[in-house]
Amino acid sequence: MLATLKEVLEKAEQGNYAVGAFNCTSLESGMAIVETAEELNSPVILQYADSHRHLISIDVIGPIMLQLAKIAKVPVVVHLDHGASIESCRHAVDMGFTSVMYDASAKPFEDNVAETRNVVEYAHERGASVEAELGHILTSKAGAAEGNGKSYTREEAYTDPEMAKEFIERTNVDALAIGFGTAHGIYTEKPVLDLNRIALIKSAKDIPYVMHGGSGLSEEEYRTAIHNGIRKINYYTYLSLAGGRGVMQYLEDKKDKDAIYFEDIAKAGITAMKADVKRAMKIFESDGKI
Ligand SMILES: [Zn+2]
Repeated sequence: MLATLKEVLEKAEQGNYAVGAFNCTSLESGMAIVETAEELNSPVILQYADSHRHLISIDVIGPIMLQLAKIAKVPVVVHLDHGASIESCRHAVDMGFTSVMYDASAKPFEDNVAETRNVVEYAHERGASVEAELGHILTSKAGAAEGNGKSYTREEAYTDPEMAKEFIERTNVDALAIGFGTAHGIYTEKPVLDLNRIALIKSAKDIPYVMHGGSGLSEEEYRTAIHNGIRKINYYTYLSLAGGRGVMQYLEDKKDKDAIYFEDIAKAGITAMKADVKRAMKIFESDGKI
């Protein structure tokens, strides 16, 4: 069933676990994510990133995501990831998304507060939740944070606990993405994580916090982050790689190369993505929580 981010993360707070937020870029990935959540009795966040519009439009995949959520046996949040503008957040809410992220983290603090508040007012009036970002998520390849091509040092990327408190109180967001050393994409070098910072931010203001760049950490790092207050973990890169590997394996194993059907390739991708989503949900300890 369709759920809001607020509902799902409140339960995660009570149970001290995190809910996986998996990016959906195709019908196949959406099916893999929701089917796994049902098999594990886990809540899940099915999200569409504005940056994936070159792969598929929200106007095509959005209604499919909403339908997958509505017929699911477990709570599914349909969320806009890294909404690039106030307009795109409003568009997602109008379509029926139950949650949006507005990312103005590259802008000055006061602009981030004012614009996020604008999105919160619109979304809350319509029953949807809002995630925002303060601090910066690094990008692993270039070592620079995302957003308008600006680059940040590690120290600049870390979220300040007092600023987080002020930001949350002034914007009334439901969840906040924070910087503590994680990066989007594939880690080419070991990330320098400040996991204690999560606990400091959490003790300054007790709301659910979000980890971006969640692919590729060790199980121990995930568990510490969750214990310290992370309740939503964005996960995509390694899921997509798992699907690719599943397809490659299928093609290698297939003896009759003249009988390769697209539906079988899609199925091999779904099976491999499901195994990776299952592994992630077990680490996040969201399995069996419904
Ligand atoms: Zn992100």
